[in-house]
Amino acid sequence: MTETLAPLSAAVRPVFDTVVARNAHEPEFHQAVHEVLASIVPVLEEHPTFVEAGIVERLVEPERQIIFRVPWTDDNGDLHVNRGMRVQFSSVLGPYKGGLRFHPSVNLSIIKFLGFEQIFKNALTGQGIGGGKGGSDFDPHGRSDAEVMRFCQAFMDELYRHLGEHTDVPAGDIGVGAREVGYLFGQYRKITNRHESGMFTGKGVQWGGAEVRTEATGYGAVFFAEEMLGTAGRDIAGMRMGVSGSGNVAIYAIAKAHQLGAIPVTASDSTGYVVDDHGIDVDLLRQVKEVDRARISAYAAARPSARFVEGARPWEVPVDIAVPSATQNELDEDDARALIAGGVRAVSEGANMPCTPAAVSAFQKAGVLFGPGKAANAGGVATSALEMSQNAARQRWSFGDSEARLREIMQNVHAAAYSAAERYGSPGDYVVGANCAGFERVAHAMLAQGVI
Ligand code: NDP
Repeated sequence: MTETLAPLSAAVRPVFDTVVARNAHEPEFHQAVHEVLASIVPVLEEHPTFVEAGIVERLVEPERQIIFRVPWTDDNGDLHVNRGMRVQFSSVLGPYKGGLRFHPSVNLSIIKFLGFEQIFKNALTGQGIGGGKGGSDFDPHGRSDAEVMRFCQAFMDELYRHLGEHTDVPAGDIGVGAREVGYLFGQYRKITNRHESGMFTGKGVQWGGAEVRTEATGYGAVFFAEEMLGTAGRDIAGMRMGVSGSGNVAIYAIAKAHQLGAIPVTASDSTGYVVDDHGIDVDLLRQVKEVDRARISAYAAARPSARFVEGARPWEVPVDIAVPSATQNELDEDDARALIAGGVRAVSEGANMPCTPAAVSAFQKAGVLFGPGKAANAGGVATSALEMSQNAARQRWSFGDSEARLREIMQNVHAAAYSAAERYGSPGDYVVGANCAGFERVAHAMLAQGVI
């Protein structure tokens, strides 16, 4: 991220300066903190007790950060050493909750930005879950199942002592899907000699997982787009949708778009994107990415209506709705301008912080409805909390019932962000609204629980 961050109000600038000084060389973490601080000044003005109690100063410092060695051997018997980490950011609303990411780019800055975002996202859902995030610089691409299993076991050999259904409950994220969750949960069960269902979410539905958890983030991001468009009197049906990524979030955003009558025309991975004017075929995409674990070009090779564009991002394709669902800072100001020129009406962030600050600003200035990830992709963690409830009660809810709850949660998240934006003087600004609504809930809880 090379963009310069805009100056902050004097009310929060000293906190930001301390964050930058104390966490040097962590640009993604600075970016995430900056966005929240820039939004919450009106909340601090209305609640002087938050300032007196040092809520913001405490919130930007994680409660705990764990960094550990992960040694494992590959199929040739060669030794590898990766770095594992878990940042337990805030437990004021509930056990730490947030995914694990396995990707070579993972470092403390990325895990801290994700953990910080997670606090406010989880608060916005209205559920009893705190914020945390973890992962490793391990790259599962090109590794055999046996290698992935050994890595996951070595990772859990250390992390297990920091987890538990009342302590810290991870889930998946980039590079951590159904396969990895199974190996991680299995090793925790072996080490602790406990089948503690509620210590991990995103489990297989046959062994404690919840219906709709797999689909929830992508479905939720499309529901959020639908809600935003609804406030503007528009219907999602018939709209062209651009999606980036081809993983868990992207696949189910594409699936839900079809179900609602929209036309999802793109998908991508780190090698390029495919465009398919007939609408992306979900079954083929799942076959390519989840079964064959192949590159996205294989989709175009198998589908006459599609073409593959190597080394580019999908934002050059004109669409009505964009759902960036790959990774942070994957959509910059130039991409935003291309989308605006192509007539985009709404952007719903499936990924965490995929749009750079300049891109967000360009969308908002152009009157494009913009749903930030901490609201738009909250359906994943919200459904994880439903999984925890089912595990605690030893129940299983049906797919239909779970999807209805997800839809209601996304409507509530939208309403909370929308009304907070109005209340704090920025009507229609979902960034301000999501940050203020999430922050308010966390701050009240911190105030009540004392200086700890
Ligand atoms: P997956 O690992 O299932 O898929 C990630 C996709 O993004 C892949 O297509 C991958 O391509 C692509 N990608 C990853 N890194 C890059 C990069 N640096 N450049 C270009 N493409 C990239 O992850 P998820 O779908 O689970 O997560 C996607 C995003 O959604 C992340 O930001 C995550 O934090 C966020 N999110 C996920 C939730 C969930 O429930 N899974 C919940 C809330 C947010 P390739 O295979 O080539 O690397």
